[in-house]
Amino acid sequence: MKKTVEWYDWIWDPVWGCTLGCDFCSSRRYAKKMAGELTKHEMVFRKDNGFSIDGKVIDDFYNSVYNFRPTSVLHRTPPAIPRDVKRILVNQMSDIWDWGAEDTQKYLDIIKKDTEHIYFIMTSLPNVYYTKPFEKYIRGENIANLWFGVTATCNNEISTFQDHLSFLKPNKTFLSIEPANEKIDVSLLDREYVDWIIVGSETGNRRNRVVPKKDWFNDLMNQYGDILYMKDSLQILYGDSIIKRMPNEIG
Ligand code: SF4
Repeated sequence: MKKTVEWYDWIWDPVWGCTLGCDFCSSRRYAKKMAGELTKHEMVFRKDNGFSIDGKVIDDFYNSVYNFRPTSVLHRTPPAIPRDVKRILVNQMSDIWDWGAEDTQKYLDIIKKDTEHIYFIMTSLPNVYYTKPFEKYIRGENIANLWFGVTATCNNEISTFQDHLSFLKPNKTFLSIEPANEKIDVSLLDREYVDWIIVGSETGNRRNRVVPKKDWFNDLMNQYGDILYMKDSLQILYGDSIIKRMPNEIG
């Protein structure tokens, strides 16, 4: 779990690994790097909590994280939250699509009880919001301290994914456009459905990395600046004009 300087104060990753296979995924690389460290913590936790541990359990956990298969990380559930944290990003190392109904319900229960913090979940496959246990939020149930997000990379996804968010209202919703792959067509956006927008570009040194042009985001800044958070990856294009509206500033 990392302390950060982005829009969230902290990250809680109860699951590591994802089956969606995005080319630009940096979490996959991070999982390979951290699999050994994570396994050490997990084994200490399991031993301290009476799990029977053999070499196979250790190997399975390590291999599952290393190969980025969705893996429940017991020592991170429930999270031990530092005192100064307010906003928590829940899933940087996975997509909620892979969590399964039972574990998802467990994590939602933790979130619901913890009214002192604001949690953010997101998915690249918003159909998951129509499945159990999320479907009750589609039917109108409200959860005050959880924002529901979708991740889109192009205008086509922005258009269709935003429609899914509309069904989650009156819950708080956000659209994460990252990494942006083309000039954003703001005529596709609807404020009724999206409370907050995050935008960023691809980072790292991937061979086919998409490098954005400055005019890709101008319309977004002009028309949606009041609900926009631009990630540091866009600093190089916009310098001091970068906009960073935080979710607590949104009316
Ligand atoms: S959805 Fe997220 S975690 Fe899953 S492969 Fe894509 S970028 Fe990685």
